[in-house]
Amino acid sequence: MRYTFSSLIGMLATVSLLAGSTLLLGCNGAASSEPSAEAPIALAIHGGAGVISSDAMSDDEDAAYREALHEALDAGYAVLEDGGTSLEAVEAAIMVMEDNPLFNAGHGAVFTSDDRVELDASIMDGATRNAGALTGVTTVRNPIQLARTIMHESPHVMMAGEGAEVFADGFDLERVDNEYFHTERRLQQAREARSNDATSSLRLSEDMDAPLGTVGAVALDRDGNLAAGTSTGGMTNKQFGRVGDSPIIGAGTYADNATCAVSSTGHGEYFIRSVVAHDIAARMQHGGQALADAADAVIHDALPDLGGTGGVISLDAEGTVAMPFNTEGMYRASIDADGERVVRIYGDAEEAERTE
Ligand code: ASP
Repeated sequence: MRYTFSSLIGMLATVSLLAGSTLLLGCNGAASSEPSAEAPIALAIHGGAGVISSDAMSDDEDAAYREALHEALDAGYAVLEDGGTSLEAVEAAIMVMEDNPLFNAGHGAVFTSDDRVELDASIMDGATRNAGALTGVTTVRNPIQLARTIMHESPHVMMAGEGAEVFADGFDLERVDNEYFHTERRLQQAREARSNDATSSLRLSEDMDAPLGTVGAVALDRDGNLAAGTSTGGMTNKQFGRVGDSPIIGAGTYADNATCAVSSTGHGEYFIRSVVAHDIAARMQHGGQALADAADAVIHDALPDLGGTGGVISLDAEGTVAMPFNTEGMYRASIDADGERVVRIYGDAEEAERTE
């Protein structure tokens, strides 16, 4: 078989492209390859929004939250740096927070009106807009893993309670007693919520803005794929069986490569009614808004119009991060496309004062 010079160059170019590197032709016509400029990666996480005042936070507490946020951020970012997918990064970051009792997800989640823990979670793939979600799960140690398994291994998007748990058994996901999730701090919070209003066993908390510590992550991987995930115990003293926004695709979680990835935290009933996460994406897609403008409009205008409080973390396909909230604070952290790391708890003024 005879090859022409140009067909050989063509074959080399194909091989080189398949290997993911850039073909360079030297002045003697010889082909050499060099790694292409790396595509951006980015990650943002949250650990809940609410009344989070610097004055009420001891140095030890402040340091513990910051350390936990760094730890979750590191876990997710390491996945992206190693060439892992945005879905894997979201799962890794959220699992760290589910295992940390500081946050209202997994171990340390809030209690229901009947003193149990019921967990909600969801995850979405921006490349395919496939999604997995679960609600009212009481024995799966890491709900975000189950959400991803539902997405990949079942024809469904959402499963509830016992059906979701039986499904988990088919995939070796760790099951635990409900007591595993219990912490004294959260039990006291639920009892306090009940005693604050003797007329209603369903009073959610003394102040609807109380920080609850739901967790979430959004990521952009080297292939340009976005993903989002959220995991929570819901709201303190919620009616057992109550479903919040966190497992609702479009409210608590949304991802689409064409626009953005979003994870919400706040008073879930309002986030469901405002379809917060999808509204941000829709404003970008149909209104041509930039991510920060779309996210600000939803969190500072549309959501408060209904009376809703909370915030979001969001990320677009360029790796731009926007993390608006209309509460006093929001546990949040990110590493954007330029590699800039941010770990914050309070509103901007308080944050600057505390970290000076
Ligand atoms: N959005 C969650 C829920 O309503 C609570 C939270 O974000 O803190 O279940």
